[in-house]
Amino acid sequence: MPLLVMKFGGTSVADLARIRNAAEKVRREVANGYDVIVIVSAMSGKTNELVGWVGETSPFYDAREYDAVVSSGENVTAGLMALTLQEMDVPARSWQGWQVPLRTSSAHGAARIEEIPRTNIDAKFAEGMKVAVVAGFQGISPEGRITTLGRGGSDTTAVAFAAAFEAERCDIYTDVDGVYTTDPRICDQARKLNRIAFEEMLELASLGAKVLQTRSVELAMRYNVRLRVLSSFEDQTEGAGTLVCAEEEIMESKVVSGVAYSRDEAEVTLVSVADRPGIAAAIFGPLADAGVNVDMIVQNISEEGRTDMTFSCPVDQVARAEKAMKDARDRGEINFHDLVADTAVCKISVVGIGMRSHAGVAARMFRALAEEGINIKVITTSEIKISVLVDRKYMELAVQALHDAFELEKVA
Ligand code: ASP
Ligand code: MG
Repeated sequence: MPLLVMKFGGTSVADLARIRNAAEKVRREVANGYDVIVIVSAMSGKTNELVGWVGETSPFYDAREYDAVVSSGENVTAGLMALTLQEMDVPARSWQGWQVPLRTSSAHGAARIEEIPRTNIDAKFAEGMKVAVVAGFQGISPEGRITTLGRGGSDTTAVAFAAAFEAERCDIYTDVDGVYTTDPRICDQARKLNRIAFEEMLELASLGAKVLQTRSVELAMRYNVRLRVLSSFEDQTEGAGTLVCAEEEIMESKVVSGVAYSRDEAEVTLVSVADRPGIAAAIFGPLADAGVNVDMIVQNISEEGRTDMTFSCPVDQVARAEKAMKDARDRGEINFHDLVADTAVCKISVVGIGMRSHAGVAARMFRALAEEGINIKVITTSEIKISVLVDRKYMELAVQALHDAFELEKVA
């Protein structure tokens, strides 16, 4: 039997009517001849409520009990989904993570999936079960305790099952109808993409296009799981949603596929540090130890043995970065004249696998920003991405200007 994985996010199972709507989509795939593994999230808002209860009960909570509580939202939807399918005469049953068992590490609240043995579920398929409804987001540790995978983890559960069961595809049903060239709330010209490569999706996911948990895309890329993102509120037609797939499957690739942004960035400059071997390690070691997620780094040319070092990090980590740098100076490990932080910047990136084979993307990007009078503060590039830091007040304008410049509203 060909097998599909269908994952329903919180808004798609928010109440009984929506669970019925989702179950109807599952029933149709069974009628099309598929065995189906359904992965469900908790009803929308439920996980937040559970997390809140834990915090209220115990400020410095035992992470094992946190997982026992917050994993429960998915158990409710899994059972209700199985019951709804049974009411439709579809042979279905629910599985909690430990029953599969979905084995994870012991890192409570952020566990890694280690193994999904197929035996138990395969045996039930062999007996005539058509749908296995699995509670997402949860597993069991080597110690036999319930674990969770981190917020948004049901996406990762779904991809892991698709890989383990060699599913034809992993459909992620959500409240948006696909992945867009940029955020439609910022740019009304934004267009839904029919296909996007794993690498591009990874860049867009980590840059704030919050459709898929980043880890799920990494996993899909590693195991070549074709992922489709689509809305559970629209009727499925052929080619609905966005297919996230290997780049070999993408024919019509534009040079740039999307424009991403990250609103709350900061730019920190250490003014006049001694330019000597080991200085970068002396700066970025303590920053890493302090848990600062450094993103872009620029070192200026040096004059008379001194240079400026600039880096970017999330705005809410600036205080931590400043403390780490001053402590390092007090310990005599580094020396700088001043530390200047600009907390009103944002990062704008253009992403596309087509960049690998096309020159001139950077020039076109910089020209488009210049024409709007937007000053660029820091630039970084990778094989498939160019990112700039600009003043936050220009964020919307920059996204729109780049969307226009690369004609992303047009189909390739
Ligand atoms: N319910 C969990 C959360 O909100 C997991 C998920 O839905 O992906 O983080
Ligand atoms: Mg989600």
